[in-house]
Amino acid sequence: MASMDDSLSAFEDEITYCARHPDRDTGLRCNRCERYMCVECAVRTPIGYTCRECVRGHEDKFYAGTMTDYALVAAVGAAGGALTVLLTMLVGGFFIVGLLLAPALGGALAQFALQLTGRRRGRHSGLVCAGGVMAGGLAGSLAIFGGAGLFTLLYLALAASAAYTRFKVSI
Ligand SMILES: [Zn+2]
Ligand SMILES: [Zn+2]
Repeated sequence: MASMDDSLSAFEDEITYCARHPDRDTGLRCNRCERYMCVECAVRTPIGYTCRECVRGHEDKFYAGTMTDYALVAAVGAAGGALTVLLTMLVGGFFIVGLLLAPALGGALAQFALQLTGRRRGRHSGLVCAGGVMAGGLAGSLAIFGGAGLFTLLYLALAASAAYTRFKVSI
């Protein structure tokens, strides 16, 4: 019984403080690094409370894209955008085919860009890729057709948004 009393008194006596705010007592611990943290330092995540440092560290690991990655992603996006213009022009009046083809191309080029960069992505990879698609597509249609029609713009927007969405999925 002695051990039970000991642990009970230890629990009552021990006052713990936030690792960043030594003047604030708290019983809350980070579920990753186990440091004590006050309510202000805690971030609620789907798996419990985590300290801000751990949340940031996790994001940095997830968003490890470099400038080279951004450049690659933009280049693939631009090439994909030009390709989208060409391929959707080939299907011509088959509006439905173009509507299906454009997002498929956008998803595929984003997938390719992810593979090329070893699945690293920056915070803005999705936007960079979507921007590349629009820029490459517009430049392509200007160069080939001397302008961009309404359908071309629609197809490009579909491809760009599919590419953007693909980057948001964390696989
Ligand atoms: Zn932590
Ligand atoms: Zn704190």
